[in-house]
Amino acid sequence: MTPILRICHLYPEMMNIYGDRGNIITLAQRCRWRGWDVEVSGISVGETIEPDYYDLYFMGGGQDREQMLVCEDLRSKKAQAIHQAVELKACFLTICGGYQLFGKYFITYTGEELPGIEVFDAWTVGGEKRFIGNVVAQAITTDGTTRTLVGFENHSGRTYLGPGSAPLARVKVGYGNNGEDGFEGCRYGNAFGTYLHGSLLPKNPWLADELILLALKRRYKLEELPPLDDTLELLAQRAAVRRSRMRRKR
Ligand code: GLN
Repeated sequence: MTPILRICHLYPEMMNIYGDRGNIITLAQRCRWRGWDVEVSGISVGETIEPDYYDLYFMGGGQDREQMLVCEDLRSKKAQAIHQAVELKACFLTICGGYQLFGKYFITYTGEELPGIEVFDAWTVGGEKRFIGNVVAQAITTDGTTRTLVGFENHSGRTYLGPGSAPLARVKVGYGNNGEDGFEGCRYGNAFGTYLHGSLLPKNPWLADELILLALKRRYKLEELPPLDDTLELLAQRAAVRRSRMRRKR
């Protein structure tokens, strides 16, 4: 049976900055290169979700203002289905503003409290200084393989993780979750959160494939993905690492 990756893109017109939509394009293209089908559904304010339909959920970043607009809808119209989908082991990628709203709460720099949907044991508090620039991080892997993550961050929120969420990576250049503990992003089951825009997945093909595999292996007998030629993607990653050295020197 030819796999179909069913992607649910949450609030595509409101939560999409610094090229976050490029993550959807990357996921879709990497499936198509393998001869697989992809279906992308944009789900926005007022709409509900069928929790066992989608394999992969994506929510991008946004300014505090956009987050305020989607926060109530996320809680009232979607949180229950999202929690079911998490338990059904669907895959999630949430970026920056989306990541923050998947935590317990986000208190903005101006003091507004946005309650989150508590997929992640994490909370966020806005700070005066924005964390802006290129990031290089080393993913924390269970089998000891070295996996580099590159991206671009721009956030005032500082995110702290409780024991129920594991950090995704250790920051080598940049601030990551909060600029204090050296961690970047988080993971709970198959749900991932990160501050990295860029967009993230075109320059980090290993993560794109990990997400695709996690998303599809529930419904198809897949232990690994057929490899692709990632020469260009890895050149882009190396260029991003080189560029990040300029940030370190400042
Ligand atoms: N508004 C949030 C913050 O500033 C998220 C920003 C973003 O998604 N880039 O922390």
